[in-house]
Amino acid sequence: MQLADRVQSLTPSTTLAITAKAKALKAEGHDVIGLGAGEPDFNTPNYILDAAKRAMDEGLTKYTPAGGVPELKNSITAKLKRDQSLTYTNEQIIVTTGAKHALFTLFQVLLNEGDEVIVPAPYWVSYPEQIKLAEGKPVIVSAEESNDFKITPEQLKQAITAKTKAVIINSPSNPTGMMYSEAELKAIGEVCLEHDVLIVSDEIYEKLVYTEEKHVSIAQISEALYHQTVIINGVSKSHSMTGWRIGFAAGNKTIIKAMSNMASHSTSNPTSIAQFAALAAYTGSDEKVTEMKDAFKQRLEVLHNLLIEIPGVECVKPSGAFYLFPNVKKAAESGGFENVDSWVKALLDEEKVALVPGSGFGSPDNVRLSYATSLDQLEEAAERIKRFVNNHQ
Ligand code: PLP
Repeated sequence: MQLADRVQSLTPSTTLAITAKAKALKAEGHDVIGLGAGEPDFNTPNYILDAAKRAMDEGLTKYTPAGGVPELKNSITAKLKRDQSLTYTNEQIIVTTGAKHALFTLFQVLLNEGDEVIVPAPYWVSYPEQIKLAEGKPVIVSAEESNDFKITPEQLKQAITAKTKAVIINSPSNPTGMMYSEAELKAIGEVCLEHDVLIVSDEIYEKLVYTEEKHVSIAQISEALYHQTVIINGVSKSHSMTGWRIGFAAGNKTIIKAMSNMASHSTSNPTSIAQFAALAAYTGSDEKVTEMKDAFKQRLEVLHNLLIEIPGVECVKPSGAFYLFPNVKKAAESGGFENVDSWVKALLDEEKVALVPGSGFGSPDNVRLSYATSLDQLEEAAERIKRFVNNHQ
């Protein structure tokens, strides 16, 4: 059977691949520390679980409108008003099967063959693949590590062509944890307005910010940018709800309507019970969210300090999300490794520490460590990485 062209070049998620290998080693009885995870290690808070149970008991287990139940859309517009001071109507909101499917559907309704989407690197692994699946062309723009992995307005301007349809801004970022300031977003926004480039603002890590700086959505900066932006967000990372699969998109109602039509023929609707769980998440207090954030902050401080002591490991300190993205090129070179990918492989084989190589994120000199695991495990992982580097000088 000859498969369709569109899947021939599809690369499986590097994050999932390393997680699978770490799991296999664990199953063989090895003491593996997995720092590959892209999800919080906390349980979904009880008040959310209770809401889901109630939804089941009340029989809310049937098809819902393709774009989500009105109660949840109301809670999302209220959230956007509360947190971003932005006003949306329910027609401008679609609830999706995770933020991932919001992005997937968005590219499906936006792109014709050959249309370009600018993807700043390091990027989240699914962006280029999703764009290609929509027959679009990802145009990778590499952000400098010295600029905290953020692209400049000049870089953006240079990448724009007559075929450019959109640019993705992911702040705070997976994999770097970096966050654009309001001034940086304003400058990027001006370029987008000048060239009529749609902004896809992936704000899934919005609630996980560890500095004094406040998270700003590019849509907040001006009326014009509000109209130029589609916000992507969801409960996966903020409320430790990765398995529930609830995300949303907020933006221009023509785009949202097309996305809802598309969803009506693909998912039909996000799981009804999960929608009522997400409703509880958005209407409940942020106390649990803050608790999780505080735990992440403490881990970030500890792990960052331990990593920067290791020779050949350089690590800018991120502002948000739950990842560190150190540059380990020098450590790999002085250890005689061909590249960082083989350094990562040897680290897993010898010290049983699973990291994700940066090559999957368009940044081959770096590795991604997730600190969505206990402090003890993080300290032990840092100790093992240090020993590994010392053994390969
Ligand atoms: N966007 C970014 C940057 C992510 O890191 C992720 C998940 O890893 C998603 C979107 C997808 O989130 P969800 O689990 O809600 O589909």
